[in-house]
Amino acid sequence: MAKKIIITIDGWSSCGKSTLAKQLAKKLGYVYVDSGAMYRAITLYFLRNHIDWTNKSKVKAALKEVYLDFHFNEKDESSEIYLNGENVEYVIRDLVIAEKVSDIAAIKEVREFAVAQQKKLGAKKGIVMDGRDIGTVVFPRAELKIFMTADNAVRVERRFKELFEKNPNITIEEVKNNLEMRDYIDSHRAVSPLKKAHDALVLDNTNLTPEEQFQKALSWAKERLKDK
Ligand code: C5P
Repeated sequence: MAKKIIITIDGWSSCGKSTLAKQLAKKLGYVYVDSGAMYRAITLYFLRNHIDWTNKSKVKAALKEVYLDFHFNEKDESSEIYLNGENVEYVIRDLVIAEKVSDIAAIKEVREFAVAQQKKLGAKKGIVMDGRDIGTVVFPRAELKIFMTADNAVRVERRFKELFEKNPNITIEEVKNNLEMRDYIDSHRAVSPLKKAHDALVLDNTNLTPEEQFQKALSWAKERLKDK
């Protein structure tokens, strides 16, 4: 049987991590896991149920009621997240969720809950997972770690286009403020802050097309598979 590796993709918000992760997973026949979707789904649960997330015992009790899983959507060829049996892949992309997710993802109990599930998903290898702490905390021994970055203006523009399709009332300022706020909270939190793993390869895609970045990452993956 072909050898399988773990590929982690971390980086700033809206760098195109998920686009690259999906391309790699498809090409290699691996599972793709969007760890950010887990934090977004937990945020959705907390908002819907008016959970006071500043209260530790309320957070712990709420997490007992959260069941997350991923299902592959054959039509769109993408994996979608389910919260307690409901497909929430679309609703978690809303700016309302993006405005709160970094605060909730900074809570130790929330991270322990999500990381435990992420580790299980990678137990058999053959996985591409993207997020903020995947190469540093979730899979510190992953064979290939990629850290993605791109100029702020390019990231804002890309995310704005994406969100504008769903909500034409959205402004570029709102998107810019949200990205800056999330990047700040994500990289300054006490538990598992966003940072480049010492052994991660940096991929700056400011001037790369999705195809160019894919070819670069694929060549890295092939090298790692040869080393195995
Ligand atoms: O990747 P995405 O932008 O959807 O992630 C949403 C938020 O979830 C991030 O801004 C961050 O606060 C949190 N997150 C995290 N750790 C991860 C993935 C996402 O803290 N591994």
